[in-house]
Amino acid sequence: MLHPNLAVNENGHLTIGGLDAVDLAREFGTPAYFIDEDMVRENCRTYRRAMAKYFGGNSRPLYASKALSCTAIYHIVREEGLGIDCVSGGELYTAKTAGFPAAWIYFHGNNKTDRDLADALDMGVGTIVVDNEDELRTISAMASARGCTQKILLRISPGIDPHTHRAISTGSVDSKFGRAIETGQAKAIVAEAMSLPGIDLAGLHCHIGSQIFEIDPFVDAARIMTAFIAELKRDLAFDCRELNLGGGLGVRYTEFDPVIDYADAIERIAAVVHQLCAEHNIPIPTILLEPGRSLVAAAGTTLYTVGSVKEIPGFKRYISVDGGMPDNPRYALYASRYTALIANRAAEEKTVTATIAGRCCESGDLIGEDMPIQPARRGDILAVLSTGAYNYSMASNYNRIPRPPVVLIAGGKATVAVRRETYADLVALDVL
Ligand SMILES: *Cc1c(COP(=O)(O)O)cnc(C)c1O
Repeated sequence: MLHPNLAVNENGHLTIGGLDAVDLAREFGTPAYFIDEDMVRENCRTYRRAMAKYFGGNSRPLYASKALSCTAIYHIVREEGLGIDCVSGGELYTAKTAGFPAAWIYFHGNNKTDRDLADALDMGVGTIVVDNEDELRTISAMASARGCTQKILLRISPGIDPHTHRAISTGSVDSKFGRAIETGQAKAIVAEAMSLPGIDLAGLHCHIGSQIFEIDPFVDAARIMTAFIAELKRDLAFDCRELNLGGGLGVRYTEFDPVIDYADAIERIAAVVHQLCAEHNIPIPTILLEPGRSLVAAAGTTLYTVGSVKEIPGFKRYISVDGGMPDNPRYALYASRYTALIANRAAEEKTVTATIAGRCCESGDLIGEDMPIQPARRGDILAVLSTGAYNYSMASNYNRIPRPPVVLIAGGKATVAVRRETYADLVALDVL
């Protein structure tokens, strides 16, 4: 199986965290997202242990919560000792509702509104990761008016082009995120932040992109950022206390994707930071990483019920399921590949290839094309693997389809964390 928490039992059914997927589908209905909480916790511990070992005790992973945001996940990562990254007022509100300590929130975004910033200051958000001068000046004015000082990091673009989909590459010079070293604008914004009232510039942040399998781009980013910190020390006498190197490590969606050893990646990134800090004779800043996908994606499985099955002679076979782009828009957005199987006949060979289609009135509403799978029949339970990240958090109500529930699996027990939306929920906001 693609992930260690998945297996096939004596009935030939897929099991998730030891629970029979066919039973889960019966109990919770379909479509539904199942998140293996034990696996999420294990991933959190892998990051924590490796960061403590290679970067020292103050370093910490921050869960990039846009990957999967709901109150339950904030409870889990808090218990595991992680901080979080939030990218909107809505994520901040959800984290606050879950009782997440505001001091451990890093607030991101390339265009935070005045309302977002006021909310963040009201909440006492520990760190705002500032994207640009407009935002910097707004925070300075707001914090000064309140008589407080806001700790910030500055988002810097190191000019790295990792090999990933263009839509999820974020660290090149031509990017809507941050300020680039190459143009001189990064140094200028550091100088300005150092001079403004109400601002405590603690350090720098970069995030080069997502679903990256090669470690070299991360090592390059760490090298460029460390060299830049040395330059800032020399030219501006700036002492960088924190360096946040973002997220982006890849996850296995299919058997063709490599298995990534996250601890090994962290060790390699740490090695270059240590080496460069020694060379430049600067103290090693507290290092932060922001994994999103690599904490939750592999822990997620979506279960659907198969509806119509069609063969078009000379073309292809369509298997339609009772969900689709409203619960998983990633194929429509990025042509993302997934692994699928028939959960009630998981022991059988995958002898056909099929296009798995959703039920929206939209030809692009697909989970994937040419996917190897067992022959499917109406009523089968179809599982799509590695859906823990950027599925529920990207879900919509397109075609007025209610969003599926999020069910946590821990210690052999399944518990609803987010209930299924109802038709009444869909009209609840309609006021005329
Ligand atoms: C999306 C994002 C992350 C997480 O990326 P993953 O690929 O999910 O690990 C981390 N930091 C920032 C700033 C992001 O925008």
